[in-house]
Amino acid sequence: MLTNDQLDRWDRDNFFHPSTHLGQHARGESPSRIVTGGSGVYIEDRDGTKLLDAFAGLYCVNVGYGRSEIADAIAEQAKQLAYYHAYVGHGTEASITLAKMVLDRAPENMSKVYFGLGGSDANETNVKMVWYYNNILGRPEKKKIISRWRGYHGSGIMTGSLTGLAGFHNKFDLPRAPILHTEAPYYFRRADLDMSEADFVAHCVAELEAMIEREGADTIAAFIGEPVLGTGGLVPPPAGYWQAIQRVLKKHDILLIVDEVVTAFGRLGAMFGSDKHGLEADIITIAKGLTSAYAPLSGSIFSKRMWEVLERGTDENGPIGHGWTYSAHPIGTAAGVANLKLIDSLGLVENAGKTGAYFNAAMADALSGHAHVGDVRGEGMMCAVEFVKDKASRAFFETSDKVGPKLATALLGQGVIARAMPQGDIIGFAPPLCLTEAEADIVVDGFKAAVGEVFG
Ligand code: PLP
Repeated sequence: MLTNDQLDRWDRDNFFHPSTHLGQHARGESPSRIVTGGSGVYIEDRDGTKLLDAFAGLYCVNVGYGRSEIADAIAEQAKQLAYYHAYVGHGTEASITLAKMVLDRAPENMSKVYFGLGGSDANETNVKMVWYYNNILGRPEKKKIISRWRGYHGSGIMTGSLTGLAGFHNKFDLPRAPILHTEAPYYFRRADLDMSEADFVAHCVAELEAMIEREGADTIAAFIGEPVLGTGGLVPPPAGYWQAIQRVLKKHDILLIVDEVVTAFGRLGAMFGSDKHGLEADIITIAKGLTSAYAPLSGSIFSKRMWEVLERGTDENGPIGHGWTYSAHPIGTAAGVANLKLIDSLGLVENAGKTGAYFNAAMADALSGHAHVGDVRGEGMMCAVEFVKDKASRAFFETSDKVGPKLATALLGQGVIARAMPQGDIIGFAPPLCLTEAEADIVVDGFKAAVGEVFG
């Protein structure tokens, strides 16, 4: 067995880690961790440290760690048929079964699912299909996509452009045309102090309408958004936001892509966030919770109205020129089938609603009175605590104060993992959906202690 020192050296010498300070890591200046196992909501590292993972990896291990039902399904599929492609009508029992299971759970108006590998490539597929759709309809100018500042939709060239966070653009020459960004539905940070929530929604709508007017509705193809902002700060939308935005989109014949990579399959206490928030999507993006990350798999679910046009397109032009080698990979889809069965049998959607509400209430009780806590918010099994320098004026800390990273590190000392979100002093929690009330208490108590440690 390799020693920790050996692994540490090989890691720093050879491994290009995503979302990592490359220089600090290579020089051994930043902490690292070699994770070896997991069970339920806990992971364990090579030093034997056990941590409660209150961010479910990257809000993806929704059923929790160590589920043998999924591991066995993966092993059986690998032994029987590790791979066959899905081109020109090929499939496997796993891919066909999973497509049916996804559509059985998806909102009423959805028609077909295309399987990819991760959320980024799924949104890439979505943009291509939106362009194809408008070309088939004879609207070659209608191609721009509107996203929101603070939205997160991936980190490829197109999807990194859709993402509305500076850290994913800087020095990468992103965003690229034809992507536009509009106001984030983020009342706490974006509204003036004297603005009501309804006034803020009207402001978001006015910004969108002005953008459409400026650019011309005949140049705008689609709008993309997460039902609840995720990586941009875990922000539930203000009341009435989605209804008002959808009215504008309908008026201008602009498609709606609902990015449910985080929210689908239970995280908000409903199978889909679209149903919960009254969203009538033309495309829904799914990934993380589809397999609970036991294997890489994503999906793009298309509405009936889009599907009819896509079908017409291939009748007129031949087979669709789009596909990945690993689309609908048998091991990913076998994991997906076992995962969705487990979500049902364990009642995890219901638990996310019930225990999630308990968790959010406990966090608010414990921390909303603290002098530096500006906002405690959440929905289902998502919760965020946002820190401010001064509550009354809602003044934020400087990035150089590193308040978020300090809090996340202090919480690790309490045996709990949460995420310092990339923009702002926001600590995000998105535990596995199997979290119990007792485990929620451990997270809240640990965070209260961490906040005390950082602020004295
Ligand atoms: N969309 C949303 C809403 C996400 O949160 C993410 C990842 O966190 C993505 C897309 C990109 O998914 P992936 O990292 O699998 O490419």
